[in-house]
Amino acid sequence: LPTPPTTAPSVCSAYDEDHPALAQIHDVHVHKLVQQIIAERLQDDTDESAFFAADLSAVYQAVLEWRASPIGKRVEPFYATKCNPSDPVLHLLSLLGLSFDCASAAEINQVLALPSAPSPDRIIFANPCKPASFIRTAAQKGVSMMTFDNADELYKIKRIYPSAKLVIRILTDDSKSLCRLGLKFGAPLDTCPGLLRLARQLGLDVIGVSFHVGSGCKDPMQFADAIWRSRKAFDMGKEAGFDFTLLDIGGGFERETFAQMAEVLSDSFDLYFPESTGVRIIAEPGRFFVSSAFTLATNIIASRRAQQEAATASVAASAAEKEDKENSTADVMYYINDGVYGSFNCIMFDHQIVHPHPLTIDGDLTDTPPPFPPLPNVAVDVDLPVQMGYSSVEKASVWGPTCDSIDCVRQLVDLPRGMSVGDWIGWGEMGAYTLCAASTFNGFERSPIHWTTGGDSPDAKVVRQILDNFASTSLR
Ligand code: PLP
Repeated sequence: LPTPPTTAPSVCSAYDEDHPALAQIHDVHVHKLVQQIIAERLQDDTDESAFFAADLSAVYQAVLEWRASPIGKRVEPFYATKCNPSDPVLHLLSLLGLSFDCASAAEINQVLALPSAPSPDRIIFANPCKPASFIRTAAQKGVSMMTFDNADELYKIKRIYPSAKLVIRILTDDSKSLCRLGLKFGAPLDTCPGLLRLARQLGLDVIGVSFHVGSGCKDPMQFADAIWRSRKAFDMGKEAGFDFTLLDIGGGFERETFAQMAEVLSDSFDLYFPESTGVRIIAEPGRFFVSSAFTLATNIIASRRAQQEAATASVAASAAEKEDKENSTADVMYYINDGVYGSFNCIMFDHQIVHPHPLTIDGDLTDTPPPFPPLPNVAVDVDLPVQMGYSSVEKASVWGPTCDSIDCVRQLVDLPRGMSVGDWIGWGEMGAYTLCAASTFNGFERSPIHWTTGGDSPDAKVVRQILDNFASTSLR
């Protein structure tokens, strides 16, 4: 049998029961944490439930990467809370001095209830179409910075929170992004003069311009185009009698293309918003900070080698519109205990392609950790088991646990031979838009999170120090 776990979480009782996740954070490498939990499960044989392992040092590293980039000194990140609203993530980011993009009253309340709650001016209410009651909450809490993109929103804000600091969200090209937010939000440039005139007539205070190039942006040049449009909107603001001081460049950043995006942005700032203009620039990154910090461990709860052809064909038909080359048949069907109604909702809502790696084979823990940093989530042909050196693989389809046939996690993917019921499959890059939108459909629980600072690495030690210093100096 594998060795039982040796690392207990460091219990920091200063973080009270209002923030239980903060009270129990391990200090171990994330892969070790996954292995220890599984080893314990294998030994007891009483619990096969899926779980996340979250590595706060990966969040910290992403913050360092942002700050070291060509835009790091100029652009203040307001973390997009919606992307992963877990207390430890929010708390660490707040302690690191980040601000927040909230899209609802509940998100505002959550961020302001953190032990390290930021001041309300470190929040932007970045939802251009808000329910009146949410605007009331923002007013009560003093969260004054908020976006709009239509006339009705201006009338609503005039009625409820006339002293709000408004940011006009403009429409930009998002055609190369996985999630095209422009289908729903953003004022086309030719409507901006009218909206700004109306804001002026209503006596509202518009302080700047925002945009979002779409989540999962694949083309850095979309940012160049958006900055050019923002310049136009600034000029329109001048004509309407405003003196804009804020540019909000939204989210859409991914680790794989970040360096290019930062270069493009830096050049565009020099061209259209040089430092000498004194314009404050903020951003709303979500995915960038959390994606690689979360690994999901799932258990094979059932499998079958018969009838898979018919089933695979029926899913292929129902997902025909997907741009998907996975069109041959699987040797084996695996059923795991999290699916598209749970953490893998990212497949439906966020167009993610997820990549499995074996955590156990035939009941034995695998030694090889998955490659870190993990791989881009878009390439269908990136199958980790082969990259990890497993030469004997077979084609598998991987299914979630519900009774719905749409609950398919991968239609066809390489997994090592020899896996069977009871074995564990890991999934990296699972921090963005996963647990936040998971349901309990069919009675399947959401997968809980086990937290770690990341272990012995220097970054992990800094994270531990930051958390403990705050607890000892600022909490009772
Ligand atoms: N800001 C707004 C207004 C959004 O709608 C989103 C995502 O939907 C984000 C920021 C975060 O985007 P991303 O996670 O791609 O950085």
